[in-house]
Amino acid sequence: MSDEIFEGGCFCGAVRFRMRGRPMFIHACHCRDCQRQTGGPFAINGLIEADALTVTRGTAEVRSLPTDSGRPHDVAVCGQCGAALHSDYGRRDWLRFVRIMALDEAARFQPDVHIFTRTKLPWLPLPEGARVFQAYYDMMAEWPAESLARRSRASAGR
Ligand SMILES: [Zn+2]
Ligand SMILES: [Zn+2]
Repeated sequence: MSDEIFEGGCFCGAVRFRMRGRPMFIHACHCRDCQRQTGGPFAINGLIEADALTVTRGTAEVRSLPTDSGRPHDVAVCGQCGAALHSDYGRRDWLRFVRIMALDEAARFQPDVHIFTRTKLPWLPLPEGARVFQAYYDMMAEWPAESLARRSRASAGR
C-alpha cells in the first residue's frame, strides 16, 4: 500500500474520512442495485483494505441492504445527509468498497473495469478501450499482480 493520503466525506460534511493508498482495483458497476442506490447510471467502487480507511470526523451509520446473492451489503452512510461513503459486501472484515465519488479528488481515479453492463443505460457510451463485462469478471485475469498480492495479504487468515 502506498502512503498517498486521500480525503473524503459525505455531502453535508458531518462525516469525513481518510483513505491511505490507492484502491487495489476500481469497478464501475452498472447493476440495477447500484443504479437505484446511487441515483446515477453506475457506482464507482474502489476495492481497498479495510484498515486503509479511517473516519476523521463524525460517525458513519451502517445500513444493511439486501442483495440478489443473499450476501448482506452493509453501507456506511452519513446519518444526516444519507450520502454513502463505503460498503462492505458479504461482511468480509478486511475489504471495503470505497465510493470513489465521496473522495475530494475523485477525478484522480478511473475505473479499471465496467461490470454488469448488461443493465448499462443504452445511451451511455463507454471510453474506447474500456474493459467491459456483461456481469462479473475473473479477478485473477484482470487484477494487476501487485493488487492480487495486497489482496492476499489483507485476507490472510480471515
Ligand atoms: Zn452528511
Ligand atoms: Zn452494482
